[in-house]
Amino acid sequence: MRGMNSTLDPRRTIAELQELRRLTSDEHGAQRVAFTPVWVKTREWLRAKLSALPVETHVDAAGNLWSTLKGRSEKSLLIGGHMDSVPNGGWLDGCLNVLAGLEVLRRIDAQYDHQPPMTVRLVDWADEEGARFGRSLFGSSACSGNLDLAEASKLVDKDGVRLTDALAGVGVTFEHVKDSHRELANAAAYLELHIEQGPVLLDLGLPLGVVLGTFGVERHAITFHGQAAHSGSTPMNRRRDAFLAAARMSPEIYEITRRHGGVGTIGSCTTKPGIVTSVVEDCRITLDQRHLDAAALAASLADARAASERFAGEGGVDVAWERLWNIEPVLFDPRLLRFCEEAVLETCGTVHRLPSGPLHDAAEVARAGVPTVMMFVQSLHGISHNKIEDTSEEHLELCVRAFDRLAEKTLQTFA
Ligand SMILES: [Zn+2]
Repeated sequence: MRGMNSTLDPRRTIAELQELRRLTSDEHGAQRVAFTPVWVKTREWLRAKLSALPVETHVDAAGNLWSTLKGRSEKSLLIGGHMDSVPNGGWLDGCLNVLAGLEVLRRIDAQYDHQPPMTVRLVDWADEEGARFGRSLFGSSACSGNLDLAEASKLVDKDGVRLTDALAGVGVTFEHVKDSHRELANAAAYLELHIEQGPVLLDLGLPLGVVLGTFGVERHAITFHGQAAHSGSTPMNRRRDAFLAAARMSPEIYEITRRHGGVGTIGSCTTKPGIVTSVVEDCRITLDQRHLDAAALAASLADARAASERFAGEGGVDVAWERLWNIEPVLFDPRLLRFCEEAVLETCGTVHRLPSGPLHDAAEVARAGVPTVMMFVQSLHGISHNKIEDTSEEHLELCVRAFDRLAEKTLQTFA
């Protein structure tokens, strides 16, 4: 595909990641929380890097930063990531994607003498993490059109600062954030590289993976209602114990997930009256189920519901369900999946396909109808959102090379 004249320099990406870490981390980790002074400084640093290229750079209506290298075709290849981090975050989550994209942009600019076959755009999404206001994928969901403005207008951080005011502080007018959608007008494809943030590639001993899509999520609260009764005077056969019914859900969720695949988690359990001398009257548990297949996710949810009713009936208690949140699975584009697989194979000889448990900006872009794919690179320790988050330098180099190949294949085909 490309000859020996490629200017791609993955070592430069690693050096820039290290430079960014020195600039935006303290002893607890990365502090690039969206809309804060460190994030603003991060953006200035990124813009200085971009200014060495013949690109047009602007911030859109939702605070996303776009840098455009005009090509012979108006159609654009989008490459994205996020410079924001969680508080005390890692040095790679989000910014690897942007800085690898920057390196790919440099290579394309040099190889095609400032005029590639199609327009190439690098995007740094605003507030992917949602660490401060509790709403992930802010900039990309404003852009895709999926952001609920009424809901977002109520968001407040732990210091009482409203999201709308934090946005105003960085020059973004809340009422207009959805105007960001116009940035997708000529979008032909979207590519995103990310650290895996889990242990799958590590356990397989593979550097890179092709991401099939992002899990659909069903998140519910399940409340069992029985009767409070004295723990000394109430015989075991006379109890209506809400905790007993709820507790039986735990092994059942493992069994349901074994049957249908995906993952299922009972993440919290609260009891009332919650004292040592009373049978539990109310027990509320939360259930989070995730799957890449919509039908399997629906079946898992239906089985969990049926089980809860069975356990409630057997225990003489009532059960009520409340949906907290849900999102459908997002499947990536088959043609881009093939390119991604080829790129990984050509770079390191073996490939593995895996779903993404966490959501990513790529899911929002795909939901907006733009053909999308993601590539994962192995995470050491299988850990992220922590200062120990890491990936070997060898694998960082490989991922920049493979991602560049994916971009080139896309450029050749989608122009
Ligand atoms: Zn991320």
